Amino acid sequence: MPSPKVLLSLLSVATAAVLALPASAQREGSAQPAVSGPITAKYQADASKILAAAAADNDGYTALTYLCDHIGNRNSGTPQLNTAVQWGAELMRKAGLENVTVQPAMVPHWVRGHESAEILSPDLHGMPRKLHMLGLGMSVGTPAQGITAPVIFVHTFDELDALPPDSIKGKIVVYNPGWHGYGVGSLYRTTGASRAAAKGAVAMLVRSATGLVEQTPHTGTLRYDEKQPKIPAAAISPEDALLIERLAKDGTVSVHLQMDAHQEADVQSGNVVGEIRGSEKPNEVVVLGGHIDSWDVGQGAQDDGSGIMAAYAAVKLIHDLGLKPKRTLRLAFWVNEENGGAGGRAYRDSVAKNIKDQVAAMEMDDGAEAPLGIGYTVIARTPGRRAPSMQQMMRQGPPPFNMDALTPEQKQAFNTVQQIAALLQPIGADKVFPAGGGSDIGPIVALGVPSLAPITVAEHYFDWHHTEADTLDKVNLADFRKDIGLLAVTTFVLADMDGQLVGAKIPDMD
Ligand SMILES: [Zn+2]
Repeated sequence: MPSPKVLLSLLSVATAAVLALPASAQREGSAQPAVSGPITAKYQADASKILAAAAADNDGYTALTYLCDHIGNRNSGTPQLNTAVQWGAELMRKAGLENVTVQPAMVPHWVRGHESAEILSPDLHGMPRKLHMLGLGMSVGTPAQGITAPVIFVHTFDELDALPPDSIKGKIVVYNPGWHGYGVGSLYRTTGASRAAAKGAVAMLVRSATGLVEQTPHTGTLRYDEKQPKIPAAAISPEDALLIERLAKDGTVSVHLQMDAHQEADVQSGNVVGEIRGSEKPNEVVVLGGHIDSWDVGQGAQDDGSGIMAAYAAVKLIHDLGLKPKRTLRLAFWVNEENGGAGGRAYRDSVAKNIKDQVAAMEMDDGAEAPLGIGYTVIARTPGRRAPSMQQMMRQGPPPFNMDALTPEQKQAFNTVQQIAALLQPIGADKVFPAGGGSDIGPIVALGVPSLAPITVAEHYFDWHHTEADTLDKVNLADFRKDIGLLAVTTFVLADMDGQLVGAKIPDMD
């Protein structure tokens, strides 16, 4: 990634969550300090009340516990997801929010089914060597009897491209690009299958997009290039990718892959939304939320149960404190973030006509670790050129952040966020990062809505998300409460303050 290293957490390519950098130290490089000013002074008393309430909040963790333990994971198209949607609407109603509705969206229904992979040769005392694998979301399955083929191991796309098609045809391509952050890792996961298929491969295995080496496979979505044959694709643990790499150096490695994965008919689902109506400008909206769907493994605790439940607790405590922002504060549990983005698009369609009324959007989808501050997307624009797209930034990293290159309007907006961040000093979250967002708000950010996200230390998020290990125990209550405080203070001030932020119009796709 280019310097200065910017955490860009506003992916909208319906992969998981973020474009993250490998080390939290790198995030620090782009952080700007809070600055006290008139906005800080005006909201000091309210912020103190909010942070005290958040520090004692149990509503958020109680609801998260129910979601994880009693509803469980909730992949798009499953009954569990729609149970979660109905439960989420009831939760908002019980909290006293207004205009609680389920905004309809059709979602895909991908079904994993039974799956397995094993090394057949080299022979290990006549026993196949089982691989730790998880099929990638939206993958096609294998024929019922599975696929048995020799593997061709590559580290990178460059290595793949350098090979003659003859050496790939009929084989299973195995990628191990190593771990260089989620942006790179998820790029191999999302596009690796079609790139292998273009050269005649029959299946694809990819090292999980994680820095954690603990025999844990990580699923996540893939995107087929419609011009190429669709081949089955799965993630394997980093250890198993390294094993195949070592074995492949010594000779032919043959793998058997069996996957029942398939698509069923789309299913009716929806975004859950509820509001604290604005006291003076009810048509103007600050929207806060995360996504209610998850992968079909683990409990979807960090990804993104923690996001929606922290957002819920934040809005509920503002309501319970009797604070009435001038603008409407809207809580949203978007649907189908992981494998389609239907919820984010449905939300955009519902507000597009009066997009100027959407004054800010904040999404929490990077887990509930200790917050460092607020991410707010300001990208300096080269005159005459549009902002880089999300996909470009995934490949190349975001453009360098340079405060001096911002327009006066951008500088003022950035300063406003710095003044809000000064209110978060008691929870140690008083930094401002020049980028922040999420997949679900991507479609409205593309229309110019200002984009924000909490930025956390994110030391373990990519160890857990999209795995069997994404369970409630990974969510630390003290950190979670700080996240609630950050969301509540930030969105309350944005909904109540006199001015507005400016958006960056990040194009959704190339
Ligand atoms: Zn997520």
